[in-house]
Amino acid sequence: METASPIRASELHFVLIPLMAQGHMIPIFDIARILGRRRITTTIYTTPMNASRFRPTMSRNSDLDLPVRLVEVPFASDEVGLPYGCENLDALPSPDLLRKFHCALEKMQAPVEAHLRDHGPPPSCIISDLAVFWTADIARKFDIPRFLFNGMSCFSRLACSNVEVHLSRAPEYYSSLADSETFEIPGMPIGFKLRKSQLPAIFGQFPNLGDFRAKVREAAKTAQGLIINSFDELEDGCVRLYEKTIGQKIWCIGPVLMYNGSRLDLLDRGNKVVSDEADRCIEWLDGMDPGTVIYACLGSLCRLVPAQLMELGKGLVASNRPFIWVVKTAEDGRTSELENLLKDYKLEERTRGRGFLIRGWAPQLAILTHRSIGAFLTHCGWNSTLEGLCSGLPMITWPLFAEQFVNDAMVVDILRVGVRVGVETAVKFGQEEMLGVLVREREVVRAIEEVMSSDEEGKGRRKRAVELAERGRMAIEEGGSSYTNLTHLIQFVISELASRRKM
Ligand code: UDP
Repeated sequence: METASPIRASELHFVLIPLMAQGHMIPIFDIARILGRRRITTTIYTTPMNASRFRPTMSRNSDLDLPVRLVEVPFASDEVGLPYGCENLDALPSPDLLRKFHCALEKMQAPVEAHLRDHGPPPSCIISDLAVFWTADIARKFDIPRFLFNGMSCFSRLACSNVEVHLSRAPEYYSSLADSETFEIPGMPIGFKLRKSQLPAIFGQFPNLGDFRAKVREAAKTAQGLIINSFDELEDGCVRLYEKTIGQKIWCIGPVLMYNGSRLDLLDRGNKVVSDEADRCIEWLDGMDPGTVIYACLGSLCRLVPAQLMELGKGLVASNRPFIWVVKTAEDGRTSELENLLKDYKLEERTRGRGFLIRGWAPQLAILTHRSIGAFLTHCGWNSTLEGLCSGLPMITWPLFAEQFVNDAMVVDILRVGVRVGVETAVKFGQEEMLGVLVREREVVRAIEEVMSSDEEGKGRRKRAVELAERGRMAIEEGGSSYTNLTHLIQFVISELASRRKM
């Protein structure tokens, strides 16, 4: 009888399918690079507009001779009635379009499947975003294992899952709580509290996506496990607890951002081209004293009202410290409102030489890892949180929505490397106007003073942040926890394939 020869890692072909949002795509490209370094071929499927953002990354992958392929599949914008170019969540002008976005995303299944069938090498496994539920169908057809990735930490996934279970068991308790009341998140290795007003954005803000959510839940059940962009030492007990909760395996293989070594990797991560602005910003930072500059960026999806953003800007100005402030250019008319406010306030004249305003995309990782940065004012998206931690920086936390309040609790209460600016309520996508201004200039100044302070507290925060960065670096080195977890993941795929071949 013929026996199948053992499968080697270099024969594997991992298929990666991210959700089209920067916070989901950037780490997937990093993961492709890590796998490439292990000589595993990867193919990333995405739409043309998203592919164009990662062309420089791809061209360096090929310079480094990494076996990473990027395949463009059409996005059915026209068919579902989405405006041209809305291929990424950061381009959606309104939450009303989310449903259409998910309809177009679903239509990507057929071209991805056809490409996989017609263009070798045959896939060995799929790593897909949780939201891309139809990959379950593809994995079944090709009889390959499938893993989920959704960009969150294990800590926050466990917290969200525990809250959800708790709320479903005690809905009357939840409805009896006032918005300002806090409650302890159940079942966590280290307890922490959230206000009710910080929760709703985590759970079902969009009732018209109920059918998609149900499909995502169903598809999640058939995955072989989860890939997490974090490291075991940071997750402290959550990995095993969450594995038990979901009954699936978890591999923490991060921080994946640490695989960006060169200046160019850092400069154009997640963006089309290295702009002159990015170069100018780094030159400007070169001229600043070490550890003095505040970097403020609220992620790729921030939609705070211009008046609220101005409070942040005024706080940066009033802090009397050098700063970089990133403001997003949206297509919804708010940009011009913000520009008018900036002009009236004469922000750029007031801070000439001391403030650097970036409109649009900032080279965030290049900035954070620059020696002149002293603290990071962040919205606590998981990627930004990890980037701050791995750059050894204390943080000022300004969570906006989703699981960001949970990340905030991790940074401030558990790791003790952050200071809160004091946001009490989650922003709901599409309802930002209702909230108006929640954080005033003086709160920004207070938080900056606190985080930059050289008193015992301040020094302790800084020291802990540097230690965490070191632990993150060690996790990805040969023999480190994430390095080893990735080896285990690869071995898992090999043994899964071997046992399926035998059947
Ligand atoms: N980012 C960046 N430049 C920007 C804004 C964001 O490089 O101007 C990157 C940031 O470094 C991070 C990602 O975009 O890797 C954002 O992901 P995160 O999870 O922090 O937040 P989201 O944007 O998903 O809310």
